[in-house]
Amino acid sequence: KSKLPDLPAKEISPSYDWFQTESLVTIVIYTKQKDVDSESVIVDYQDGCFRAEIVINDYSYLLHTELSHEIQEDITARVAEKTGKVEIILKKKDNVSWKYLGHPLENHNSFTAHREKGLYYRKCKLVSKVDVTHDTKLYCLMLPPDTHLQVPIGQHVYLKLTVAGAEIVKPYTPVLESLHSDLQEPLHPHNKYIYVIIKIYHTGLFTPHFDCLQIGDYVSVSSPEGNFKKSQLQDLEELFLLAAGTGFTPMVKILNYALTNTTSLRKVKLMFFNKTEEDILWKNQLEHLADKDRRFEVEFILSEPTCEWTGKQGRISLPLLSKFVKRSLENSRVLICICGPAPFTEQGIRLLKDLNFSQEEVHSFTA
Ligand code: FAD
Ligand code: NAD
Repeated sequence: KSKLPDLPAKEISPSYDWFQTESLVTIVIYTKQKDVDSESVIVDYQDGCFRAEIVINDYSYLLHTELSHEIQEDITARVAEKTGKVEIILKKKDNVSWKYLGHPLENHNSFTAHREKGLYYRKCKLVSKVDVTHDTKLYCLMLPPDTHLQVPIGQHVYLKLTVAGAEIVKPYTPVLESLHSDLQEPLHPHNKYIYVIIKIYHTGLFTPHFDCLQIGDYVSVSSPEGNFKKSQLQDLEELFLLAAGTGFTPMVKILNYALTNTTSLRKVKLMFFNKTEEDILWKNQLEHLADKDRRFEVEFILSEPTCEWTGKQGRISLPLLSKFVKRSLENSRVLICICGPAPFTEQGIRLLKDLNFSQEEVHSFTA
């Protein structure tokens, strides 16, 4: 295969092939990349159209075809991480021989910059809705059975609703079902369900309509987006998380992943800014985690506390950060993640720069 002229030299276009048995069709994609994992593979089958997208760094390879025959609902996707080979197995509805895979649709067999592809949505069913605080809920959305999609840590999806004939789209960062690791796997497999914590603003464009959805109703969910990379957590020794309000959502998976997978990690500190104590998301779970895991510390800072509050008060500031975000050793490998209202994040970035943290050591979450 020749190199694409507008791609970096090492980005060589993937290719695909397919074969069949009496009951199965297997599509094999040779990505020619080593760091492809299950999260890089997004597969959908809607109204006879098959779509498989393999995300490789900032590029994505797309197979998009109207299948020549019908298939059953469950699709399996397997990734051989060492060779970069992706296998997608379709179950035939009728045991007949297929002469061809399908009719090519838009951008079929293309390898282009990921952002050029536009957002792709599938309809997900709302399966539960649980109060987290007075104005915030945990929603569980079920992916269609023939979708294969996992939202990578630190990434968000767009939710889309049609209200009075107009489409409204907003980004949300999926979380885990809870911070208790014993609850995570068994109830709902993470590749079939997406959890989001959403604050309802009564005068908001999107959230009041979203909250009106009944269990069993549908919302369109996009493929994941975002520039956080798991590799930023590799070999890390200290992780600092600065979150304000629902800016806590990206921290959930990062916190869990780092504590579970980053063996070099000595310390994770979350500084969580809220208006009042009743606004704090998952306060009990965070305190429980801090009790259970000595590496994790949490501090709550309230900007509008009642007189009973004995903890820290105020907003993000140099004195607060200089005490909290401190390397325990001079050369510690650190990462600081920051997310919240735009003025909070912008001020945080400025203050961290003043405290001499480098750009690589600070990751901010924005749109
Ligand atoms: P909006 O219509 O945007 O209004 C929000 C509030 O601002 C309302 O109180 C409204 O009255 C007020 N307002 C609107 N316009 C003005 C104005 N001009 N002047 C003054 N006040 C105004 N949110 C979550 O809850 N959970 C998440 O996981 C999450 N993840 C996100 C991920 C990303 C990448 C980004 C960028 C945002 C994320 N958000 C998240 C925020 C979310 O996308 C929405 O912005 C939020 O839900 C509000 O949407 P809305 O349409 O209901 O409200
Ligand atoms: P909120 O209004 O309840 O405020 C929470 C805290 O943020 C306050 O207590 C205060 O400490 C701080 N804060 C608020 N305004 C500030 C300002 N002007 N300067 C400094 N600090 C300030 O927060 P909320 O309603 O939960 O809003 C959360 C915000 O986080 C939203 O704007 C949402 O879009 C954003 N968010 C972004 C992402 C992302 O980019 N990935 C993800 C989730 C949430």
